[in-house]
Amino acid sequence: MHPKASGVGRESKGTTSDAPDNAEALLADFLSNTADLVSFYDRDFRLTHYATRLKDVYGGAVTPGAAIWQVYPSFLDSRCRDEFLRVFQGGSAARIELPRSKRDAPQSVFVFATSNGVGIIESRQHVGRSATEEQERVILLHQATHDVLTGLQNRRRFGERLQQALAAIGETRPKAALLQIDLDDFKAVNDTLGHGAGDTLLQLAAGRIRDALRDGESAYRYAGDEFAVIQLGNEQPAAAERLAGSLVDAFKQPFVINDIPVFVGCSIGIAFAPEHGTDGEQLMKAADIALYAAKTDGRGCARIFNRAMLLLLEQRENLRRSLRTALQRGELYLEYQPLIRPPSSVIGFEALLRWRHPEVGIIPPGVFIPIAEADGLMDEIGRWVLEEACRQALTWPPSLTVAVNLSPAQFLSGSLTDTVAEIIDEVGIRAERLELEITETVLLEKTVDNIDILNTLNVLGIRISLDDFGTHYSSLSYLKNFPFDTLKIDQYFIADLETDSKGQTIVRSIINLAHGLGMSVTAEGVETSAQARWLIKENCDCLQGNFLGRPLGIEAIGDFIRRSLPRVVRAMEESNRAV
Ligand code: C2E
Ligand code: MG
Ligand code: MG
Repeated sequence: MHPKASGVGRESKGTTSDAPDNAEALLADFLSNTADLVSFYDRDFRLTHYATRLKDVYGGAVTPGAAIWQVYPSFLDSRCRDEFLRVFQGGSAARIELPRSKRDAPQSVFVFATSNGVGIIESRQHVGRSATEEQERVILLHQATHDVLTGLQNRRRFGERLQQALAAIGETRPKAALLQIDLDDFKAVNDTLGHGAGDTLLQLAAGRIRDALRDGESAYRYAGDEFAVIQLGNEQPAAAERLAGSLVDAFKQPFVINDIPVFVGCSIGIAFAPEHGTDGEQLMKAADIALYAAKTDGRGCARIFNRAMLLLLEQRENLRRSLRTALQRGELYLEYQPLIRPPSSVIGFEALLRWRHPEVGIIPPGVFIPIAEADGLMDEIGRWVLEEACRQALTWPPSLTVAVNLSPAQFLSGSLTDTVAEIIDEVGIRAERLELEITETVLLEKTVDNIDILNTLNVLGIRISLDDFGTHYSSLSYLKNFPFDTLKIDQYFIADLETDSKGQTIVRSIINLAHGLGMSVTAEGVETSAQARWLIKENCDCLQGNFLGRPLGIEAIGDFIRRSLPRVVRAMEESNRAV
């Protein structure tokens, strides 16, 4: 067996105890050498760490996981128990006098709250200055290995434990699994409900992770909303799949924060040692790639690392590199999808960005825009889209509008209103012909004053639409506070409109809500004449979708207006007659 596998306490003695940054080793060294009887308990009052001498004095009662009452029966006494619970609940420290029922029972113990439970020091010396100093040292050592907010073990401890787990792989323990857990939508909770709610969510999430663990599994808060579990067990992948399954299920229940039910799922990436890595860095990278795959596969799920994921990631890296020069090389272009007002008039087009990659071919915006956003390229690209769309719209009949999608990055740049004003001025397009589409994610960013930006754009005479309405957070407060001209109902609600009566009720209510607030409504993704008919009957103001017209290259717009229009007119008139 590898020498490090013999356990933290023994390993630390004389080997790593002098390393100042190895808090775990320092704590272990301290516990094996201190004359005081020191012990730590988790939130369930189960013994987690203890001084070697505690076992010498109390014998068999001292085993990992033993209840505090087994080590100190005096805490069953109601007075002691109340004082003890006060420390535990208040997060403070106190000296508690114990009843002297047993001959060699201690007179008093020092009890202090830790990040994930309580610590007890039974001083064998007189309680003087040195004992207090000693107590502070114990508390600091404990804090160095635990996360203060959630009480889980911290990142430093994670690194040490992972090294130990990997070093122990051999004959006796052939496998270890690393599960990287990331909360879905944590940022949105922080942004909408505040940081206090975010902290509460992290604590509750840590509790759910802790509750799902069995023997041989330990949880860590790695950073922000990222958690990790190290699993020592040989029945892999079954054990890791079981744990990941119960974690994903546990996160399906809402978290109740300030009486508000909040749904936050988790995504999990799993990697096994030794197959996916024999050192910590390799294994973490593999689990991270698997986590990324879980996120891109729709989130709220777990994925085990495989080589194909690595290939996908490499492809994404290649895309990322070539995206940097795509704009300069003229590889980006716009298509335009018609917006139709029933019964039959084309009122304008929505500009949709495309990338013609020299090797890969045409890449849709859903693939490359998130990369551009993450790489800080979207501000420049967004500016180009706006200018290109306005210039091209000038070649259309002057009554037609052009709708341009804005990304959150453009709001964050701080110069959006100036850029828009400059562009419409330079290009010479009337502001009323321009419509800007934003999604709710833009509004979630609280770092800029969104309402001011939207108001300024409105004052310029530009129309603003709320895109993809009904998905994401759909907070009704946005509708009260922001001056939207149009709500665009997401295609998700339109897709099964013909058969889904709940969907019908939702769409009907959105239309009534928007009209009540003086906004117009556009239905996105209309694919069939039955959907169009239903929407027209419900007074939807504008329709967009493949049934009425797919996105077209700029060169095809003139033709569409001239030749295809009669077809749209016919299709719409047929829809109308059927109403
Ligand atoms: P969006 O703004 O909601 O645009 C509508 C999307 O639905 C477009 O996808 C369009 O091609 C697609 N679509 C239209 N009719 C139908 C239909 O009948 N059935 C189905 N299944 N789909 C339909 P596309 O072009 O892939 O764009 C996806 C998203 O990318 C857009 O959603 C928008 O959020 C974003 N996007 C596109 N261009 C830009 C841009 O220039 N800037 C920014 N920031 N985002 C853009
Ligand atoms: Mg749009
Ligand atoms: Mg949309």
